[in-house]
Amino acid sequence: MSQGTLFIVSAPSGAGKTSLVRELIESLDGIQVSVSHTTRAMRPGEVDGVNYHFVDVATFEGMVAKGDFFEHARVFDNYYGTSRSAVEALLAAGQDVILEIDWQGARQVREQMDNAVSVFILPPSREELERRLASRGTDDHQVISGRMREAVSEMSHYGEYDFVVINDDFTSAQDELRALVIAHRLETQRQRQHHTRLLDALLAS
Ligand code: GDP
Ligand code: ADP
Ligand code: 5GP
Repeated sequence: MSQGTLFIVSAPSGAGKTSLVRELIESLDGIQVSVSHTTRAMRPGEVDGVNYHFVDVATFEGMVAKGDFFEHARVFDNYYGTSRSAVEALLAAGQDVILEIDWQGARQVREQMDNAVSVFILPPSREELERRLASRGTDDHQVISGRMREAVSEMSHYGEYDFVVINDDFTSAQDELRALVIAHRLETQRQRQHHTRLLDALLAS
């Protein structure tokens, strides 16, 4: 079986990456999102093991020491990391995998996997980004101002990514993200592995 493709999706907090990724995995088969570990507090409505694996700092540091993370980073005073074994198992099973991670994590992944495909999601304006952070209703005022301050620094890394999607109209951004994943499934190398029998039959002398 051919390996799945690893997609990295980054964006400043509130740009819409979680909503876009959720929509993408609901509308396409064969693609899954990796559930990260984090030390941040759970938001209302979040479920342990679904949105994140919520762990304390000691547990997180223990996992770092054991080399359990494919990548990990400190973002907004919390730790976030991607489990190595979970991602490798999914890719080996032929699933495409999405990592919703920050730019520091994206750098670590690119160093280890040169065929990873990275996408940066931008909001249509700073004002709209702030409005979305506030309207989500999951963070208090202090957290929102902190995330707005960090947003410019996160966005300054957009040039390190293979693709950029502007999340202005939600449906258009969704279509663009889906197009990207589908296009990668049509790469010759992957098609050759998926359609060995067809190719053999077509080319038989
Ligand atoms: P949200 O982005 O506003 O929904 O807030 P979160 O607290 O869920 O995530 C904050 C930041 O942490 C975002 O920039 C994510 O991309 C990043 N992040 C989440 N999971 C991981 C991870 O496993 N590794 C790394 N490096 N960053 C992560
Ligand atoms: P992130 O995961 O990047 O922090 P979310 O997916 O949580 O962002 O989106 C932040 C808020 O903005 C959510 O309330 C979401 O419903 C809203 N949102 C996302 N995309 C759009 C869009 N294109 N237009 C308007 N609101 C949006
Ligand atoms: P929910 O409110 O459950 O997060 O999202 C409901 C549906 O609307 C989902 O299909 C979700 O992807 C989509 N959605 C989320 N945020 C927006 C948005 O801001 N604009 C539009 N047009 N759709 C959204």
